Amino acid sequence: MKRLTTFSFLVAFFLTSLSCMQAEKPAAADPRAHDYFSFANTDQFVTKHLSLDLTADFEAEALYGSATLEMRRVRTEATEIILDTRDIAIETASFILPSGETLKAENRFGETHSIMGTPLFIRLPAEVRDAEELTLRIDYRTSPRSTALQWLPAELTAGLEHPFLFSQSQAIHARSWVPLQDTPAVRITYAATIHTPPELLAVMSADNDPAVERDGNYEFAMPQPIPSYLLAIAVGNIYFAPIGDETGVYSEPELLDASVFEFADTQTMLETAEAMFGPYQWGRYDLLIRPPSFPYVGMENPRLSFLTPSLLAGDRSLVSVVAHELAHSWSGNLVTNATWRDGWLIEGWTSYLEHRLMQVIYSEARADEENVLGYRELLLDFNTVSPRMQALAPTLEQGDPDDFQGIIHYHKGNLFLQYLENAFGRETFDSFTRKYFSDFAFGTITSELFLDYLDDNLLSAYPGKVSREQAEQWLYEPGLPDDALIPTSKNLDAAAEMAVLWSSGEIDVADVPVAEWSPQAMRHFIDSLDSDLSTEKLNELDAALGLSDTNNAEIGRTWFIQVARRQHRPADAKLTQHLQRYGRTRLVRPVYIALAQNGSDLELAKELFAAARGIYHPLTNISIETAFRRIQEAEH
Ligand SMILES: [Zn+2]
Repeated sequence: MKRLTTFSFLVAFFLTSLSCMQAEKPAAADPRAHDYFSFANTDQFVTKHLSLDLTADFEAEALYGSATLEMRRVRTEATEIILDTRDIAIETASFILPSGETLKAENRFGETHSIMGTPLFIRLPAEVRDAEELTLRIDYRTSPRSTALQWLPAELTAGLEHPFLFSQSQAIHARSWVPLQDTPAVRITYAATIHTPPELLAVMSADNDPAVERDGNYEFAMPQPIPSYLLAIAVGNIYFAPIGDETGVYSEPELLDASVFEFADTQTMLETAEAMFGPYQWGRYDLLIRPPSFPYVGMENPRLSFLTPSLLAGDRSLVSVVAHELAHSWSGNLVTNATWRDGWLIEGWTSYLEHRLMQVIYSEARADEENVLGYRELLLDFNTVSPRMQALAPTLEQGDPDDFQGIIHYHKGNLFLQYLENAFGRETFDSFTRKYFSDFAFGTITSELFLDYLDDNLLSAYPGKVSREQAEQWLYEPGLPDDALIPTSKNLDAAAEMAVLWSSGEIDVADVPVAEWSPQAMRHFIDSLDSDLSTEKLNELDAALGLSDTNNAEIGRTWFIQVARRQHRPADAKLTQHLQRYGRTRLVRPVYIALAQNGSDLELAKELFAAARGIYHPLTNISIETAFRRIQEAEH
């Protein structure tokens, strides 16, 4: 996923309840490899394959039908399966015998945890107590409160005529639409039959057929094993348009042409990525452009990345997100973190691969710009995250859970890998990278396993360049090591200089060379403006550069954060439009925070949120409410 912002508080909730979860589930041998965020007894039973047969009921805002889990028993004495669920109603649980006979199984829910959900305990009937392979069928129904599913009414779609459903399973939301072992440590293949209203199309993180007949019944198979957080579904008035031989776009027809234009480089990206990182193992690579309200920029659902339409800037300036989601086909989808504590192994690696793709497909200068912007976000993060949680792989016992932040995983992880590349040389490091993806393909890995592998294949294989202690410093120490490479960008430096010159009145706004700038340079310019500019100066700038009217969501985000921070009242109406135009957490949450923290606009921020929250995803709403609560607590 690209820049998730709700992860921090979710982890906070998880960690505060470690003690009660440990009682539910025996700890793994290495406590660092233990998944604290799942109830599933994966040391006793492991799921191999999932079959879904689900109907999308838009009236009731529910999926109903069955999930059949093919499981392998790991421990002979085990008599009870524990699955993860959240807000799911169970109709029946039964075991299907090899003869085809069905045996009802006793099942009960455990205690509900506010974030983790509710463990589902299923007792093995005597007839299957000795079976090594088990087929467990659960008939169930999801709730409209499902944290993974957003049911959009027609008026919130681009076309305004048909409703739209889509899922977001990462990190632990798959359990709110499928009862299963919801941990990245378990990989499953899956098949699905999805029933929808006949005029709508269903797509999944599976083998979508661009030429499928639209009749309301759709079959899917995902033959490569995936972790549960990559289960994904979307249903809507969805159509397909090709980009290249193996790439294309699914979206509402209203967004199709703009999407094909914006993401025209996707086929080239795929071919470039294969040449650099090794074979693409998933068949096709398509994009799904969702309606506007979605909490994340993009989600790397295998074979079908989900993207927000706020990337449709019309100038291909935000396609680094596609590079990011595509790169997850190697780091994350192919080689997966064993627990969410090891999240840097997918996000840090992916940010690094994204950087490499941007260098090749666009330019070094453009990759440098994005690198610097990421580094600046990291520095801001270091200001607010406790030193102990600034480690890439914090030990949970040490955790100050309120401070846990995804930014560290992305940008510090990226800088760690850039550091290794620089130390060993690009050729050697690229060989290491390809071998790593090949050796761990379709596997899961902890930070410690990675460290050992790194030591064997790079540190000790090419001695005298980076010591194990230096690598451990990246993984376990706060901040950045002294010898980290600090990203630089000539373009951004020039933009910052222009901001200083214009702020001080030394140059006219007409002399600011915006036509030569990338949107990244424009963002850096806005961020580098003097803190005490007059209303007249800000009006002049806005009129000259059209900042309040920008179609570039990231420029809008940067500008409206400044508008909110500076209480620049003339742009309030456009700020309100920005908040009602986008649903992405990243685009709206920091604007609300800037308003709430400017010393006088907390109430205004709450009013604007109350008016806009209907178009946001539940996860976005929770993250904004949490931010308001923290700000209020800090004031008292
Ligand atoms: Zn990502």
